[in-house]
Amino acid sequence: MREEDLVHAETYRDRVSSVTNKGKRNWVYALKPSGRWYNYRKYIAYAYLAVFFVMPFIKVNNLPFMMINLPEGKFILFSKIFWPQDFFIFAIAMVTLIVFVVLFTVVFGRLFCGWVCPQTVLLEFVFRPIEWLIEGSPAQQKKLNASKWTTEKIIKRFTKHFVYLLISFTIAHTFLAYVLGIDEVVAIIKEPLEEHVGLLTGLIFFTLVFYSVFAFIREIVCSTICPYGRLQGVMFDKDTMQISYDYKRGEPRGKFKKNTERLEGDCIGCMKCVHVCPAGIDIRDGIQMECVGCTACIDACDEVMESVNLKKGLIRFASENEISTGKKFHFNTRMKAYTILLGVLTIFMAILIGTRKSVDTYITRVKGQLYQEVGTDKISNLFDAKIINKTNEEIPISLRLEEIPGEVRVVGMNQVILKKEALNELTFFLDIPKTYITERSSKIKIGVYRGEEKIQTIKTKFLGPFN
Ligand code: SF4
Ligand code: SF4
Repeated sequence: MREEDLVHAETYRDRVSSVTNKGKRNWVYALKPSGRWYNYRKYIAYAYLAVFFVMPFIKVNNLPFMMINLPEGKFILFSKIFWPQDFFIFAIAMVTLIVFVVLFTVVFGRLFCGWVCPQTVLLEFVFRPIEWLIEGSPAQQKKLNASKWTTEKIIKRFTKHFVYLLISFTIAHTFLAYVLGIDEVVAIIKEPLEEHVGLLTGLIFFTLVFYSVFAFIREIVCSTICPYGRLQGVMFDKDTMQISYDYKRGEPRGKFKKNTERLEGDCIGCMKCVHVCPAGIDIRDGIQMECVGCTACIDACDEVMESVNLKKGLIRFASENEISTGKKFHFNTRMKAYTILLGVLTIFMAILIGTRKSVDTYITRVKGQLYQEVGTDKISNLFDAKIINKTNEEIPISLRLEEIPGEVRVVGMNQVILKKEALNELTFFLDIPKTYITERSSKIKIGVYRGEEKIQTIKTKFLGPFN
């Protein structure tokens, strides 16, 4: 091995690829990828972007398909309203998501980052293509960067950054639509600006954040800022599938010579895999934390291998064990344990969501009240009811005593109509014939009915005069 290669092998992990030896920014001029994997990514990215920008407009039963209103603690998923009372479902969903992410990372490495992370999708399929369109190929961009401020450079730079700002502004609005709902956002846009100074400030702040990320920070987000990226090193093991260079097959490297028997490894040292890498790394050095698993280097190397009549897959999706031992991928014990845990959590989640009530009732006896005698043959208790209507429609309900005779008298209303998306509070007397009350504290059941359909049964206690 040459001395400089030895030094490189020892030191390349000492700094991130986006910083030069002198501590300056190492701007990545990545070539546009092409090939099978890039095409798959493109389809996924376009579908993903379509879903991201269109989803806030989708409504079912007049409810947004998805809305995450953190300030008001109101969440709508699949057009179902979730309230703070449903928080445990979110907690379980979060745990399930974390287990899923860990399992996915243990098995498939950083594939999420390269294929579905919004940062990568927006950078590689929105912002970078705009850069190619306005400033030309990476070589032209490099030249433009190094050149003096000519009229052409000013126009190109201004156009690029203006378009970047516009898109960042759109992204900020889209996120706002996920928080407040599209109707609210449209209303805010139509109303005078001075009525929404706070929101406007937030929008400008987030626009500038997105703009800075996509115009300047770029791959540093993935290697340095993103906690998921930083955590991945501890999740990988030698069975994790990653974008790997087959050093057994590729080394020693040597230039390709036509019509000459090849004595070196299959890597012809063309550097295409490096030039196409948006993280600015050389995958032949081994697995690196900057690699986002975008597969661009696989496409680049496959194209080279094809052109020199060598077998494709010198860079491929494979585990370290697969490369070093030649053994095929196997599902190890850790992966099996995560899969079982994930399965259990998913089933639990499905049960929780499936059995989630759209009307939730809490009944308690009014504090400080014991019982009253009503006439000569009945005993009455006073109850408070808090009923949450999680739907976006008014629901007429009635309360009925179950299993034994009794009468519910709601204070101040003949018919209880639950207001939509609201906590409804009412007070009612429950009268039960004395003959059915044989204990000081009797267990009773109260049914909540919508028409003749029972939607909930509440267990509570009824006080009587006996010791
Ligand atoms: S090394 Fe390959 S997979 Fe990793 S970021 Fe670079 S091009 Fe993408
Ligand atoms: S693209 Fe393939 S052949 Fe070319 S340098 Fe990279 S690994 Fe070697």
